[in-house]
Amino acid sequence: MILPSSAYSRAVLHLDLDAFFVSVELLRNSALHGKPVVIGGRSRRGVVASCSYEARKYGVHAGMPMRMAHQLCPDILVLKGDMESYSKYSTLITDIIADSAPMFEKASIDEFYLDLTGMDRHIGCYKWSIELRQRIMRESGLPISFGLSVNKLISKIGAGEAKPNGMMQVSPGEETAFIHPLSVSKIPSIGKATYKKLSFMGVRTVRVLSEIPARLLEREFGKHGISMWQKANAIDDRPIVPYSDKKSISTERTFQVDTIDVKKLKSLLMGMVEKLAFELRDMKKLTACITVKIRYSDFNTYTQQKRISYTANDKNLMQLATTLFDKLYQRRQLVRLIGVRFSHLVTGNYQISLFDDTAEEMQLLQTMDAIKRRFGTKAVVRACSV
Ligand SMILES: [Mg+2]
Repeated sequence: MILPSSAYSRAVLHLDLDAFFVSVELLRNSALHGKPVVIGGRSRRGVVASCSYEARKYGVHAGMPMRMAHQLCPDILVLKGDMESYSKYSTLITDIIADSAPMFEKASIDEFYLDLTGMDRHIGCYKWSIELRQRIMRESGLPISFGLSVNKLISKIGAGEAKPNGMMQVSPGEETAFIHPLSVSKIPSIGKATYKKLSFMGVRTVRVLSEIPARLLEREFGKHGISMWQKANAIDDRPIVPYSDKKSISTERTFQVDTIDVKKLKSLLMGMVEKLAFELRDMKKLTACITVKIRYSDFNTYTQQKRISYTANDKNLMQLATTLFDKLYQRRQLVRLIGVRFSHLVTGNYQISLFDDTAEEMQLLQTMDAIKRRFGTKAVVRACSV
């Protein structure tokens, strides 16, 4: 059943650049075309941040330990990432979208959701989307795919199916017909562990998942079970969250009673850095500048700042903050206030942009963040900020 495009209850466009980091590298060095290329940590303990479609043919994928990529494809070319230039391209594309779309969300460095509801009467969402995609490719030189449907979930899966360099429209009413034949692994929130468990239960397609009573899935998987069932039935009410171009985040603390207790000051600072770094990762941002501030009891205020390579890793940031604090706290005087700021923020997923981080370090961060999201930011902290 094909409905006219005016029948859209909502119209959500998902735009996703193809192998974004690699595509930027190809723009700069055409000799890389057609080669298995990965970007990521160069040490053997590093992680694949992005990989070319040629590398994917060998089974290489983002998030995989670099040493495994080497095993799958011994001739693989490993490039060190260049966040500065990826960020520049991301901003260029964001500007084009901001110029064209009434309302959009930047979901990551290379992914966008646009709310096109109500636009159909004028020009037709699909035609409009095609024109926007062409403009982005023309002005940036980068390949991009899209999915267009009534919600975020179906549009995201649609863009994934259209890749590379493609587009897909799922007409209203066709959502379940589109996703039901697909593997459950195509549902974004279904990770490796859930996929294994579902396979073990004999659930391989989205159709079978959609037919299981929600209560049963809840018993097996808790809240995630309900959300899986909703997704398998193409239900997704998530709104488009308008893009914010926040350039810095900061926090500070004024003491009731001025203090000279260095241990206490440092531990407080570590807690602040940890909390801000989590906020950064939650906003899917990275920082390139850290500032530590101290105000003495005589109201004299001093700051120390340092430019760094893009990161959202609290371990790196804590070390930097400690160094800055040691430089700063020269006068053995009572302190009235202490603060920290991260600035020069850019959008970027820490999982894929900390080129020098090891797989173990990333795993630890992801696990800690998952616990924080469930139980609150105080639920788990690094030993040094206790
Ligand atoms: Mg992408």
